[in-house]
Amino acid sequence: MRYQAGNMPRPCDIVFCFKPNQGKHIDGFAESFVQALEDQTTAERAKYPATYQPPKPEDILINDAAAQRISQTVYKWRNSLSTAEGIQLPQATTWARSKHLCPHTSNISECRSADDPAREEEQDDGYIFGCPCALPFKERKASAFMRRRIYPDCYTFYEANRACFFHMELVKTLLLHGETDTVLRACSDPAIKDEYARWHSKGECNCMPQTLGWDMVYKFALEAYLVLNIIKVFPALWEPAPRGKKRNNTPGALREADYRNTAMYQYMLGLVTMDITTPATVLPHQEFFGVPDRHFSDCFRFPADIAVKYPVFRKFVKDDKATGWAAGTGTEAKKSGYVAAYKFPYGHLPFNRFLNLEETVPHLPSSQDIAQVTLILYAKRLPTELVIPILKLADYDTPRRRLPIPHDPLHAQNRNELNKYLELCWNLLVRYNLLAQELGEEIDWKGMIFNALRRHVGRPPRWELYKIRYRRNPERNEYHFLNDKRQTTHVAYASSC
Ligand SMILES: [Zn+2]
Ligand SMILES: [Zn+2]
Repeated sequence: MRYQAGNMPRPCDIVFCFKPNQGKHIDGFAESFVQALEDQTTAERAKYPATYQPPKPEDILINDAAAQRISQTVYKWRNSLSTAEGIQLPQATTWARSKHLCPHTSNISECRSADDPAREEEQDDGYIFGCPCALPFKERKASAFMRRRIYPDCYTFYEANRACFFHMELVKTLLLHGETDTVLRACSDPAIKDEYARWHSKGECNCMPQTLGWDMVYKFALEAYLVLNIIKVFPALWEPAPRGKKRNNTPGALREADYRNTAMYQYMLGLVTMDITTPATVLPHQEFFGVPDRHFSDCFRFPADIAVKYPVFRKFVKDDKATGWAAGTGTEAKKSGYVAAYKFPYGHLPFNRFLNLEETVPHLPSSQDIAQVTLILYAKRLPTELVIPILKLADYDTPRRRLPIPHDPLHAQNRNELNKYLELCWNLLVRYNLLAQELGEEIDWKGMIFNALRRHVGRPPRWELYKIRYRRNPERNEYHFLNDKRQTTHVAYASSC
């Protein structure tokens, strides 16, 4: 691979060199990656009992210590879901940093059973959260793990599956925090196991993007892990400029050749922090990269003037009326750009312009910022009852950024956080591989690695990284990709098509 400076019409990117042995090298890399992942998964599984006693509905599966460890994360994504379109989960009102567990251990109505006729009539799961705690006590019981998803009509997914979806976000949170034992114990119940397998790759319904399942977690973790590790191989793109070269000493300022200007980095950043309405999936990425919730989505909107300086954007600029964005009628037609994320010309804009394209990223508080502000408030002799709501109103009640130097993960002062993040991404791959094995599901890691490389690393037009074998069904004029184990589906090779 090599760095390609961005000059029209080519984007700034890291591209394949297409050397004679490249195919073999890529194949070897994918093989050893998957082998390491399988070895680590085996070692991880050995840490837990080989078999578990299936839980009874009244058993507490999430113990107090685990509940305390995960409750801040639950608080964050639950409040994100409270304003999300469709689901509108009730907001949690307990303070995020409180160590108190939900005290509401009785007298809370339970979720109706799946065969309750009232449920179908109402198109509602009949679930009542019942208390304002981020993690209600009843959600820690095995009975909450036993909910089953209902197959609703279009656009009624959340009405019918609010509680079920809440639980799946909770499972993702448990795995995020390494509470694998709890998930494995739940999986010893055949019905729960069956339900979790059905959540592998899921959307609101078959006609909508399949972005709500747990596959999104390992897919995003793999994208971030690969891209950041590839960039690490190119110190010239992130080390401070050597003496004599043009330097900008502001922390996080762009270098002359900077990894953040590459199509590879921008694509990955937009993808892993994107609003896909499964906040437990994107939260760790948003916090690491310092990108707020719903900043990136599956489409970009931008001011039309950008196309003057960057002509590659011209074809996406349209009348607001044509794009459906016009606020009123009879006014002079305004123009703006609108493009789906998968068609966006990444690597053509300098990073700061890309990051703040639609809206400027606000300052997100780190834990150090919060500690400092809290100290200032207490120094003013304010009582805790006032300090808490002030911090809450200012969105300073939970840390929302991890990097000391924002928006420059490879900056020397961010190295500690970068290493922790890469470790988390790798651990997520291991934990989800373990979950898949437990559920009898298969993950095509090698295919995913090839696809990620193909997507992220640039290549000249008409050159392909590997060949996908397929069989054509002439009767239905359909193409079937060969996934059969006896065939080698993904053959890395480097040549022009
Ligand atoms: Zn409660
Ligand atoms: Zn539908």
